[in-house]
Amino acid sequence: MVFHTDTIVALSTPPGRSAIGVVRISGPDALKILRMLIASESFDPQPNLLSLKNLIDPATRETLDQALVCFFKAPHSFTGEDLVELHCHGSPVLLRSIIEIILQQDARLAEPGEFSLRAVANGRLKLTEAEAIRDLIAAQTDAALRQSTRQLKGEISKTLQPAKDELLKLIVRLESSLEFVEDDLPALESQKIVSSLKELRRDLEKLAGTFRQGKLLRDGLTVALVGRPNVGKSSLFNMLLGRGRAIVTEIPGTTRDTITESIGLNGVPLILIDTAGIRSSIDEIESIGVERTRRAAADADLLIVVIDGATDLSDEDRHVLAEVANTEHIIALNKSDLESFSVARLGGASVPQDSSAVISVSAKTEAGLERLRAAILKPFANGGAQSESLLITNSRHHDLLVRSLVAIESSERLVDEVASEELILVGLHNALRHLDEITGETTTEEILGQIFSTFCIGK
Ligand code: GDP
Repeated sequence: MVFHTDTIVALSTPPGRSAIGVVRISGPDALKILRMLIASESFDPQPNLLSLKNLIDPATRETLDQALVCFFKAPHSFTGEDLVELHCHGSPVLLRSIIEIILQQDARLAEPGEFSLRAVANGRLKLTEAEAIRDLIAAQTDAALRQSTRQLKGEISKTLQPAKDELLKLIVRLESSLEFVEDDLPALESQKIVSSLKELRRDLEKLAGTFRQGKLLRDGLTVALVGRPNVGKSSLFNMLLGRGRAIVTEIPGTTRDTITESIGLNGVPLILIDTAGIRSSIDEIESIGVERTRRAAADADLLIVVIDGATDLSDEDRHVLAEVANTEHIIALNKSDLESFSVARLGGASVPQDSSAVISVSAKTEAGLERLRAAILKPFANGGAQSESLLITNSRHHDLLVRSLVAIESSERLVDEVASEELILVGLHNALRHLDEITGETTTEEILGQIFSTFCIGK
């Protein structure tokens, strides 16, 4: 995607019937188009104020709608260009015809994320802030929403600024010693540089280290319940869902024979898969259990192996346990409410080393529910992703942080090896460039295109 400066239009609210639908127009002809739509060539709007206007079809002179219109004058708009918002009634037919009328003027449909791209190109937003808007729209839990809000306020660039300043300072120091000093760096100077670089690396490593938790918060976990028939998978599935807070996103169907639901667990979006949908009349119980486990394992980050703790382990239970041995899993020993229940029923089976990965539960009485919930998140984050500090949630940011760290480390080594300033400087320049790429200062158009193509249209 190249930076264009023509006039673009898009529906900025979701398609479908609603109370209002917002059409956005950005670019040099935005005001001209607004004047045409309200049939008033002399309309001189006061920027940033809504006014109630009749929208007129220029071909028929018929009134299309009564809308609240707003003009934002360049450069004081979201995109940094002249921008118009039409808050129309939310009829899909009406909105489509308004957009078609606008397209007949000097305007074209916006590409996904093109409004935000322009905001970045015009210096109205840092790249990380534009990405935060995308993540805010896509957030699936309150915790994910809070993280995107922090990032939208520019926290990533603020957090990176001291590291960038320090790198720049070191670069300037080395560049000037290149110009003025004939000899190598004095030993004392080298020591200082190495200790600055070490400190820099510590800070950046700490930030990069938040990614595991941040990714969890943004992308969530897929967890599947597996086990032989009748151990209580469906009952546990419902128990987990019942207390979980439903997430209002649709999950694209995975396989037809599994049931998938989405919940938020301590701020982590959890996609829960119940494999109990698989039923077979063939009397090959063992192979059904194993096959079911295999399929679920392919999709899942974590498996919950459900075992009936009120009966002896069957061969099929053993097969399932053997099958998951190399996959991240926990064991829910179900039916703890029954008298015949005993943890000893697992005796001799291959179970996880960590005893907290075996949880006694009862889907009937909900005993052990909290421990099961905690055990689900334990392998991934300490109890959840409710962190109140800034987390790196975006793999692009994490990747660039890691690259910057590698570059710093190489410079550090070169200082130790008393290499030439030129060589040391290469690493420092690279480290700085990677940090600048995070916030968009040195991001290529091609990469920007890739990033913004993941935005929704109208944003
Ligand atoms: P699935 O085939 O593994 O999905 O198992 P279901 O969830 O359909 O449960 C099988 C049977 O076990 C049903 O009759 C449930 O009512 C019963 N059941 C499930 N969990 C419990 C439990 O914790 N305690 C008791 N007493 N019965 C349970």
